[in-house]
Amino acid sequence: MAGEQSIDGAFRHILDAISDGVYVTGPDRTIVYWSAGAERITGYAADDVVGRRCSEEILVHTDLTGARLCLSGCPLQDCIDNGEERSISEVFLKRKDGERLAVYVKTAVFEIEGRRHAVEIFGELESVAGKELAGRIQELSDSAVSDPLTGLFNRRYLDAALAQQFAMFKRLGRRYGVIHMDIDELKEINDRLGHAAGDGAIRFVAGILSDNVREMDITARQGGDEFVIICSLASADDLTVYGRRLVRLIHDSRFAAAEDAGLRVTVSAGGSLVAVDDPDETATLARADAAMYTAKHRGRDEFATGSNGSGR
Ligand code: GH3
Ligand code: MG
Repeated sequence: MAGEQSIDGAFRHILDAISDGVYVTGPDRTIVYWSAGAERITGYAADDVVGRRCSEEILVHTDLTGARLCLSGCPLQDCIDNGEERSISEVFLKRKDGERLAVYVKTAVFEIEGRRHAVEIFGELESVAGKELAGRIQELSDSAVSDPLTGLFNRRYLDAALAQQFAMFKRLGRRYGVIHMDIDELKEINDRLGHAAGDGAIRFVAGILSDNVREMDITARQGGDEFVIICSLASADDLTVYGRRLVRLIHDSRFAAAEDAGLRVTVSAGGSLVAVDDPDETATLARADAAMYTAKHRGRDEFATGSNGSGR
């Protein structure tokens, strides 16, 4: 970069000739240069991204657990802040067509006209690790975040997502609600119809949730017959409407395997909004959990709001 005050001319040709993806951002992470390799790997043309901030989650970098690096732990931001080079492998990015790709990432910082810029170089892991290893890492990443019975997110991802949402709430005031749901009397289905039917009931509820939660919500199987939904909502009233709707939808749906035996699949659920005096991310979930028990005590098949559901 020595002697160059901008990224142009011959230097662009050199960057465009290498097969790795290269992009450069200004101090505020606005993308100022996007190489031909970056276009090839990601499917985004330079025109799609130059002038946008990489924190707009264009590439949605995630780590092995599925945690979004753009929201916390952005390697470029670290690099701009500390002036240190970083090299990370096993990062995932999302291509324009939606496919998730395992990549290695290196970041470095340099100055143009006295202002810190960051450069990220990324390449398909396959090209350094071999197709088989890259494929196994990809599989590992998918199974690391998803529950095998239902395909929903698993407990591990849920914990990471809750921590991330709480951090965003503290930083940006972005409010969210948590709904904790538990299938009613699943033991009876297991006892009378067998464990496979019990598994079917868990999958049945998961399917209804997947089809009916909003796209930006996070739905996870916390374990056993318990589910947690993290949703971005502004008020306790919205949370109540939403929670009741989900409970009602399950009530109104038919699980044929149980119906023949005169059994229904219903759920009890509790919800709570994050509150400003919550000490950490577990507080909201604990209130939703307590509210779920209130719904159980009231006779099941209903939704209750946590004591702090006013969302102070
Ligand atoms: P309640 O209405 O109080 O929730 O009654 P419940 O019978 O659903 O009891 P509870 O939620 O306390 O316990 C969940 C039961 O679900 C315990 C276990 O028998 C069953 N269960 C947990 N995980 C699985 C699973 O993966 N498959 C099946 N088939 N059953 C499970
Ligand atoms: Mg239960």
